[in-house]
Amino acid sequence: MKHSLETICAHAGAVADKLAGAITSPVYLSTTYNYEPRGEEPDGFVYTRLNNPTRSQLEQILTQLEQGEEAAAFASGSAAAQACFTSLSPGDHLIVNEDVYTGVRTMLLDIFIPWGLEVTFTDLTDLQNLERSIKPNTKLVWTESPTNPQLGVVDLKNLIKFCKSTQIRVAIDNTFATPYCQNPLALGADLVMHSTTKYLSGHSDVLGGALITAKQDVQWEKIRQIQQILGAVPSPFDCWLIMRGIRSFVPRMETHLKNAKAIAAFLDKHPMVEKALYPGLTSNPGYAIAKEQMRGTGAMVAILVKGGKKQAIAFIKNLKIFTNATSLGGTESLVEHRKSVEGPESPTPESLVRMSIGLENVDDLINDLDQALNGLK
Ligand code: PLP
Repeated sequence: MKHSLETICAHAGAVADKLAGAITSPVYLSTTYNYEPRGEEPDGFVYTRLNNPTRSQLEQILTQLEQGEEAAAFASGSAAAQACFTSLSPGDHLIVNEDVYTGVRTMLLDIFIPWGLEVTFTDLTDLQNLERSIKPNTKLVWTESPTNPQLGVVDLKNLIKFCKSTQIRVAIDNTFATPYCQNPLALGADLVMHSTTKYLSGHSDVLGGALITAKQDVQWEKIRQIQQILGAVPSPFDCWLIMRGIRSFVPRMETHLKNAKAIAAFLDKHPMVEKALYPGLTSNPGYAIAKEQMRGTGAMVAILVKGGKKQAIAFIKNLKIFTNATSLGGTESLVEHRKSVEGPESPTPESLVRMSIGLENVDDLINDLDQALNGLK
């Protein structure tokens, strides 16, 4: 019987525990497993770097959440991205959205381009740029939607349609959107990536990442081999923590989204805000596409503060409930001046402030934002 997202999440990590009837899964800390001297693996487990019962449970849940065929869990979102890029070969060309998580940009510029990948960064919110960037050796398109941190929307359906016609694979970093709002594999993507550090675990207390595949094909086998042989795997306890977070994923997302929508609408009208960036605002150029391809427009909001960098930083300093910290997707609201974090190579505007909208009372959050903006001179 096929279960809905709410039911899959509420039961995440539950097992039929014959020993004690436990409702939540035990954490399998053992690094090594009894197998037959002739090589048979009765339970499929040999050594925790290769596979582990707790990790396997997490991978099954992530597969269900993203409607894929299989998932591989990693020690971080960055390790998951690394595995995807390592599965390519030196000489392959990759197209990446210009507005992309800064760690992925750095990984490509500092590690994978020297290793031999050819990379074109281009604005994929305009698909004409995709067509212009294709080369005979293009093997993969990598993008987020909504994008980090400018909250642009990429037309995934048409991007995927075009890539399929040219035999180019598509990998979507679905961290901002989450499987609550969007399932890229259902739209035809080949691969989904997550930083499970964010909304899926949801409490800012565990690092993790995952790749989920539409098909168990040759490319996937390579990614699985990279996971097992290179070994950037999460600990069993971290897998358990992520599953614990997933249990409350749906009600958390409902509140994240409700709060973000109200806050974006408030910021959109504030006189000290030059522009509010949120896919759920009609002013966002990707509004119509977001409405079509997403079930909700996420809980990341950014603003361009009038007066540039100085005022953006003064605004952050004025905030009392929002904490100046990196990352996102936790219960608490966070705020960050991204250009300072990303450095000179990023296209992020100096006046941009990114917010991860948490689960606090929405009026408290709006009052905090209002006093911080009104306090600007
Ligand atoms: N993708 C996005 C959109 C992110 O925001 C992040 C981290 O902030 C990552 C990937 C990397 O994830 P991790 O920090 O778990 O390595």
